Amino acid sequence: MTERLYWQDSYMKEFTASIVSVEDIMVELDKTCFFPTGGGEPNDLGKLLLNGDEFSVLDVSKSGDKILHRVDKEGLKAGDSIKGVIDWERRYRLMKMHTASHLLAAIINKETGALISGGNLDLEKSRIDFNLEEFDKEKFISYINKANDLINQDAAVKPYFMKREEAMKIPGIIKLLEALPPNVDTLRIVEIEGIDIQADGGNHVRQLSEIDKIEIVKLENKGKNNRRLYFTLGK
Ligand SMILES: [Zn+2]
Repeated sequence: MTERLYWQDSYMKEFTASIVSVEDIMVELDKTCFFPTGGGEPNDLGKLLLNGDEFSVLDVSKSGDKILHRVDKEGLKAGDSIKGVIDWERRYRLMKMHTASHLLAAIINKETGALISGGNLDLEKSRIDFNLEEFDKEKFISYINKANDLINQDAAVKPYFMKREEAMKIPGIIKLLEALPPNVDTLRIVEIEGIDIQADGGNHVRQLSEIDKIEIVKLENKGKNNRRLYFTLGK
């Protein structure tokens, strides 16, 4: 099992770790702050350093409870002690996008009762799909304005762990239409204080003000009950 350093601190940019195993160019570490693709959040990029030699991390994925780093060349072996550095600019942008998507989902869920049917975070623009019949652009603009008011009020964002049994009693803890959290005893929770509580494994900013501003890119109709919102971040 790979220790997930990004769960201890999403702001950790560098770390040292031991290589557990290497298969071709797939590297397993004993611990990592490289986030593997999951929950709509893309993987981190960056590099592994060994005695001045640099291995670019091209992809990070989950395999059971292990996290695998695909690097650009061979040369690493089990037992090596490496330094890992993530591409922080990319990660921080994705953290802002991720927290912004929770904030929007919370507002739209509260205002309309809609559940989330899909979504994807990206650097330029992110999308959220809602299971919602009505389609009123003015209303969506008002939801974005509300989100920006809340960003200005600057609530804290707190990740923590909770017994699954307890967590499942919290209303609105699951806003995804089809996904139930993994069948484990303990769930990771991300709470935007006073606004939202979600079961979530991803990376988030500490304060809403770090997002600066959410802007609508476009709204799309994707079938009878599916509304797609693309948003980006501005100043
Ligand atoms: Zn999330």
